[in-house]
Amino acid sequence: MAPAPPDSRVDVLIVGAGPAGLMAATWMSRCGLKTRIVDKRNTKVFAGQADGLQCRTLEILDSFDFGHRAWREANHMLEICLWNPDENGQIRRSDRIPDTIPGISRFQQVVLHQGRIERFFLDSLKEHGGIQVERGVMPEALELEDADPHDREAYPVKVTLRHLTEEQATPATINGTAKNGTVQSGLFRSNLTPDDTEDLLNAAKGNPRAGLTEIVRAKYLIGCDGAHSWVRRQLGFVMEGEQTDYIWGVLDIIPITDFPDIRMRCAIHSADAGSVMVIPRENKLVRLYIQLTRTEKGGGQHDRSKITPDMILKSAQKIMAPYKIDYEYCDWWTAYQIGQRVGSSFSKNERIFLAGDAVHTHSPKAGQGMNISMQDTYNLGWKIANVVKGVADPAILKTYQSERRRIAQDLIAFDHRFSRLFSGRPAKDVMDEEGISMQEFKEAFEKGNMFASGIAVDYGTSLIVAKPGDAASEGDGSDVSAANSKKPQVVGKQSLSSVIKLGMRMPSFQVLSQADARPWQFQELLKSNGRWRLVVFAGDVKQATQKARVQALGEALAKPDSFLHRYTPADAPIDSVIEVLTIHCSPRREVELLDDFHEIFHPFRKEVGWDYWKVFVDDDSYHEGHGQAYKNYDVDPVRGCMVVLRPDQYVSWIGELDDMADLERFFDGFMLARR
Ligand code: FAD
Repeated sequence: MAPAPPDSRVDVLIVGAGPAGLMAATWMSRCGLKTRIVDKRNTKVFAGQADGLQCRTLEILDSFDFGHRAWREANHMLEICLWNPDENGQIRRSDRIPDTIPGISRFQQVVLHQGRIERFFLDSLKEHGGIQVERGVMPEALELEDADPHDREAYPVKVTLRHLTEEQATPATINGTAKNGTVQSGLFRSNLTPDDTEDLLNAAKGNPRAGLTEIVRAKYLIGCDGAHSWVRRQLGFVMEGEQTDYIWGVLDIIPITDFPDIRMRCAIHSADAGSVMVIPRENKLVRLYIQLTRTEKGGGQHDRSKITPDMILKSAQKIMAPYKIDYEYCDWWTAYQIGQRVGSSFSKNERIFLAGDAVHTHSPKAGQGMNISMQDTYNLGWKIANVVKGVADPAILKTYQSERRRIAQDLIAFDHRFSRLFSGRPAKDVMDEEGISMQEFKEAFEKGNMFASGIAVDYGTSLIVAKPGDAASEGDGSDVSAANSKKPQVVGKQSLSSVIKLGMRMPSFQVLSQADARPWQFQELLKSNGRWRLVVFAGDVKQATQKARVQALGEALAKPDSFLHRYTPADAPIDSVIEVLTIHCSPRREVELLDDFHEIFHPFRKEVGWDYWKVFVDDDSYHEGHGQAYKNYDVDPVRGCMVVLRPDQYVSWIGELDDMADLERFFDGFMLARR
């Protein structure tokens, strides 16, 4: 009899090591969860595919300490040029607008191919605990047992994994002949190519070299297995929406051209030869997105064998005429049909989750897919980690679907509008009702830039976002009032700042360390390590009444039965679950860290002494000017306020320094006592 397959247990199993899966694995490594991540392919992406990195994504990568790698290596896109036909039908530059809305982030949109982003994740995983992507491994069976959501020892997800041979794990690539010879295309990943998952499984079963199967039992499973998601199909969830009738080609080339704006992002609408989007990339590369053809709506898939690099180039040449464009080197190319769809559900029993392309697909031109996919698991990862570690009640897991499904729906609505405007023929004049108004296109572009940046994300009321309103209506099925049973709902005081907005990510302004005068962007202090944060805007601590309020707050937080202590295991540092960060606005030189602030604001440990990097000041720096943090955050410089930030830097609650009871009730709604 064949031996039973080996059986292992993990906190989290991740299927798929694209951007969404790697982001999930990164959270798990930073939070110390036992995790496996498998991918059916034997390599990561090397060329082509996604390339746009939005501001919010860069903030997130920076919070994991590798944003600088992307920022340095990428091409920075600062301006968009709009090219439209003039009265004689010849294309002309009609407008220039900033690519990223000025002032919304300390980063601007950049472009770098997906393979490099995946490389940064893989390096970071190696550096922090060594979770390794297991390649050539895919699931072939999935079972989910009923389990009490509060049972932290339960492993209700059972997955049979099959190990593939090298041959099976290597995708059959579809090449195309470009001027520099045979160039690999991305068609094997494109939606114009049928999914090969079943073929791979069947081939592996029938092949004696296809080694092992094994059983993995997991507390949680995250399906990040792309648009054809096997995990999604096992759960019986469907993608809702439709395939559009536009076929697009993508060409990554080093262009040889007299087109003057080739190093700018350009949206070019020709009079009647179609549209092209120009994306200047790293290493002299330029990506061209070109609408190739229209199929009959609902007419099924297009014959991809007809699409070649040459055909894509010829279309670009027609659209960009009288300017000339050609190339000697092509890096990658692909073609796709836009499908605008959202998954019917993002989670099964809050034990199995779906993220990324597995639950939303749309056109790639607005540079969203990779970003929103990573942001999905950025939203989910810390929640699972908090639950596995016993920090928070499993009820918080419901907010994954309520927060992220709405973003996916917004994305599809945005993409729908944007694609229609981009793909359509420009109107000849105001009477031309079938044509697209170029003014409308420009306005949509400008508005769309805010959405596309990722900064506009605004999560609704829930256990972990103390906004007015009712969580149930946000669609997560969890009910704040039910979770707090007989207690009234806690609502933060939004009136204390018009800039620090409940449900949105904490903006960043410069502050100085009180202890050593070093300037920091405040976001740099909000590392992704799974900790919650209480930000105390201490106000003007040189004023006696304010000093007394801050002292009273310190004493309340330091009490052995305060929430800070109750939620922190007795043997762990006091900042390991909720970190208290303070920003005051008295003159730095007139304040003494150790004398003027209660110890809880700069905790002491006998092995390492005082923590000097918890108290900051809004003051002039020697070399970087004044951050004007109080003014920019719109916080009263005398009375200050308190802000609770989630581990993903979204604002949960805001209140006065004396609102300890409310603050405590807010945390009591979902945090678990540890002592
Ligand atoms: P994927 O990247 O598809 O990763 C899924 C992973 O799961 C893969 O590694 C796959 O091998 C693995 N897998 C699949 N099935 C299984 C299985 N059964 N078992 C084990 N492993 C499995 N997005 C942007 O943000 N900006 C852009 O500019 C952009 N441009 C694009 C251009 C093109 C031409 C294309 C095709 C896409 C573009 N995208 C862009 C979209 C972007 O590539 C995707 O949205 C993004 O890769 C989604 O990440 P993901 O991790 O969800 O899925």
